[in-house]
Amino acid sequence: MQIIKSNKTQFEYDIQAILKSFYPEWEPHMLAPDSQIRDRRILEGEPVMELDFGETEVTLKMLDGFAQLSRQDGLHNFKLDKTETDGKVGNVHFWHPTEPADTSAYKNGFKRFFYLTLCQETGRTLPWGNLTGIRPTKIAMTMMEQGKSGEEIAAYLREVHQVSEEKIKLAIDIAEREQKILSTLHYENGYSLYVGIPFCPTTCLYCSFTSYPIVAWKKRVGEYLTALGQEIEETARLVQDKILDTVYIGGGTPTSLSAEQLKWLLKKLKESFDFGTVQEFTVEAGRADSITEEKLRVLYENGVTRISVNPQTMKQETLDLIGRRHTVVQVEEAFHLARSVGFTNINMDIILGLPGETAADAAHTIEAIQELSPDELTVHSLAVKRASKLGRWIEENGATAYNNTDEIMEIAACGAADMDMKPYYLYRQKNMSGNFENVGYAREDKYGIYNILINEEKQTILALGAGAITKGVFPDDRIERCENVKDVAQYIERIDEMIERKRRLLQG
Ligand code: SF4
Repeated sequence: MQIIKSNKTQFEYDIQAILKSFYPEWEPHMLAPDSQIRDRRILEGEPVMELDFGETEVTLKMLDGFAQLSRQDGLHNFKLDKTETDGKVGNVHFWHPTEPADTSAYKNGFKRFFYLTLCQETGRTLPWGNLTGIRPTKIAMTMMEQGKSGEEIAAYLREVHQVSEEKIKLAIDIAEREQKILSTLHYENGYSLYVGIPFCPTTCLYCSFTSYPIVAWKKRVGEYLTALGQEIEETARLVQDKILDTVYIGGGTPTSLSAEQLKWLLKKLKESFDFGTVQEFTVEAGRADSITEEKLRVLYENGVTRISVNPQTMKQETLDLIGRRHTVVQVEEAFHLARSVGFTNINMDIILGLPGETAADAAHTIEAIQELSPDELTVHSLAVKRASKLGRWIEENGATAYNNTDEIMEIAACGAADMDMKPYYLYRQKNMSGNFENVGYAREDKYGIYNILINEEKQTILALGAGAITKGVFPDDRIERCENVKDVAQYIERIDEMIERKRRLLQG
């Protein structure tokens, strides 16, 4: 636990996020006179830095604790070419704001100062600079919609947020592609539908989703589907006058359900919602150990246009380590089966930075995927949640057990380019290995529209099922969320409340 003492609580989220980008293993906490902290470890702990927000000057004092911790990183001979905070005397950095403290320019200025101070102190820069949000392409997209040129967007990302040239190019490239794809959709009048099936064959070590092992829950899956059916029917009544653009069944692993259950679910959806306008219908068939020919046929015959068969890695030892409980051969067989059933848009997800994996392992995974020749490749950079089994594994085995690097990211990007794929959506998560990003690549006419819509927050996504989060996008640019409970038993018991939450959101 690392304590940042401050005379104000402001920018707590950004300070924590920037620190965690430099030091993923840190658990930073701000301690200010008005903070409501009761944890004695924070109240009585030794701070690593001290912040003082004054009227005309902000100071950041790096204390002994910080020097000791950051030295452990061992990366101190890097030479920065842009280090200008307003100065440094001893271990104190200064910034003299020129904007009023209640403006976003002040906040951006502070983030820049805090980030550059850490660059100076650690000798490192980060690919996304001081950006802490999960949707950097949204900045580029919004500026494009305001009529700004590529150069203006690049200058903003470079100067205000210190984003690297490579990531600036990626963000603008993706935003341009997204804008083109969305221009063919009437997304303002429409909505999309997400349905969550929170069951999987087993729980992966790194899982941060709502997922329960299906064997343990077998007796309650029927009850879950009954509750979901009720949510489907009643929610459909709320959007009768709207156009359904895309449908996405995810989870969990929807193909953990039996072929009969899948058939029932698809029938229920099609009876309740008007599928006549649907442009894309995705089902995640993620885990190869859940896929059968019968299930794939049910999906195909019911109009599913896009599926995912996710290896995550093509290295068997890693699959065993992360608890996937399927083999590389099963992934290949499932992929070929899906092609033979007729699927012409198959995505494969991989994760870079998995424990113990090297650049050679990433290259091997990419080569094995190229042999299969999917239509889309989604490249994730490992994000570790402390509460996940992987978080505990890393604590036991040391944080250096996993790593993602520029070289590994480059291997994946080149591999996608070799398959004629282009990057078309991008998002970031907290605690990502190497502070990189997740990127979806696809061939020209295979871009996943739902992925863009949810990422750029362009239209309402109605989300049904345990743990699903509905996002209402309103004409006045308001974005509001309502969340279903994650716990399956609670979801079943409180289904009327889940429906009521959505009714209130959509009517608000
Ligand atoms: S398949 Fe996905 S949702 Fe299921 S346990 Fe693994 S990571 Fe979690």
